[in-house]
Amino acid sequence: MTKKRAVVAGGGIGGLACGLALAQTGWEVEVLEQAPELAEVGAGLQISPNGMAVLDRLGVTPLIEGALFEPEAIELRMGRTGRQIFRLPMKGTAEARWGNRFIQIHRADLHSALAKALRAQPSARVRTNARITGYVRERGGASVYLDRGDRVFGDILVGADGVRSQIRQQMCGGDRARFTGNVAWRAVVPVAALGENAPPPIGVIWAGRKKHAVTTRIKGGSHVNFVGIVEQDSWTEEGWSIPGNVEEALADFGDWQPCLRSVLEASTGLFRWALYGRPPLAKWCDGPVTLLGDAAHPMLPSMAQGAVMALEDAVVLADALSQDGDKTSALQSYEATRKPRVTKVQARSVANSHMFHRHSTLSQVATYAPMAVASRLSPALIHRQQDWIYGYKT
Ligand SMILES: Cc1cc2nc3c(=O)[nH]c(=O)nc-3n(C[C@H](O)[C@H](O)[C@H](O)COP(=O)(O)OP(=O)(O)OC[C@H]3O[C@@H](n4cnc5c(N)ncnc54)[C@H](O)[C@@H]3O)c2cc1C
Repeated sequence: MTKKRAVVAGGGIGGLACGLALAQTGWEVEVLEQAPELAEVGAGLQISPNGMAVLDRLGVTPLIEGALFEPEAIELRMGRTGRQIFRLPMKGTAEARWGNRFIQIHRADLHSALAKALRAQPSARVRTNARITGYVRERGGASVYLDRGDRVFGDILVGADGVRSQIRQQMCGGDRARFTGNVAWRAVVPVAALGENAPPPIGVIWAGRKKHAVTTRIKGGSHVNFVGIVEQDSWTEEGWSIPGNVEEALADFGDWQPCLRSVLEASTGLFRWALYGRPPLAKWCDGPVTLLGDAAHPMLPSMAQGAVMALEDAVVLADALSQDGDKTSALQSYEATRKPRVTKVQARSVANSHMFHRHSTLSQVATYAPMAVASRLSPALIHRQQDWIYGYKT
């Protein structure tokens, strides 16, 4: 019997995971990536237990074992004073409560593990230098057009082509991106370059007036990943790889904890870019065409769930297509399953961003004091608040 054929637009974490999930459930898959080679930017990711459950199911966890870092805890601290607001124990607790670990990893390590697993599938193929310019629905499926003139047909087409998705643009019309008034910084620095002044080997969200930062450990714990988000409207360029300079980063974070200053001073590659928000889409499907990952539900990074949601999407989509019934209904069912959850995560990401940036002392006390009390008196309460997100089973 001829295999059903899926075309996946985009070879990011979402596209690769989707290709893998489909290949493992009997599809012939072609992933089309515009870049000359499969690669990810130099930055970290936190993968919560719900994401690890997907990686387990896809057989990817053993491939990242040597590269991941499992933090003891996630903490919220004040950026300027270092004062701890709450601590969420993770090592051991995450597995016991949510069935899986909470880990931190370099994006490239996760991405290359997914690529390796995908390439090991006899029915999967990855084509690079393949920029999609549009699609057309046709009898039995859909075809994409590549900028070099080829046309590639699939019984289904999955648009996993990121925040500025071409497939979404065609399906839903113009990009409704709005500048959030926030600018992000990122840097990765070897711990060895920081001496005594390394951020603690856990995940820390450093909160403050009109800005926050996050420090994590990646590459097995040998490197610190820094992300800083600052309310600022003088910079509006969206993208991941726009170089920034240390003086400007220090103007934002130089008077915060010395360990943050030392990361910025030691950094040899600092990048900054503007954060855009996009409202939830009215639809993700157009007959045999659907969207996945950031293309379907771009979100602010303040919940560290964008890549994890893309992983969840991948297996939910493969499961929907494994049911009896026609593929168009399967894609509709995938959208119906995923939309409420990702819409909630999108909204919480916006809320978190405000929560980390309280503008006045009064609002800081009103927000953080109850959290500090709850964390000390009833840590289980803080864990319980994460159940819906970390305990999700696909
Ligand atoms: C600062 C920051 C920190 C974050 N931290 C976390 C975190 O800790 N945990 C977490 O889960 N998420 C995190 N995220 C979110 C996460 O990075 C994204 O949600 C995730 O990478 C989305 O993956 P994707 O595959 O959907 O899209 P992308 O990674 O954008 O991949 C899209 C791919 O499609 C390709 N492409 C685009 N257009 C075309 C085209 N026309 N033709 C062919 N190919 C095309 C691109 O080259 C790219 O390879 C963070 C985001 C930011 C900004």
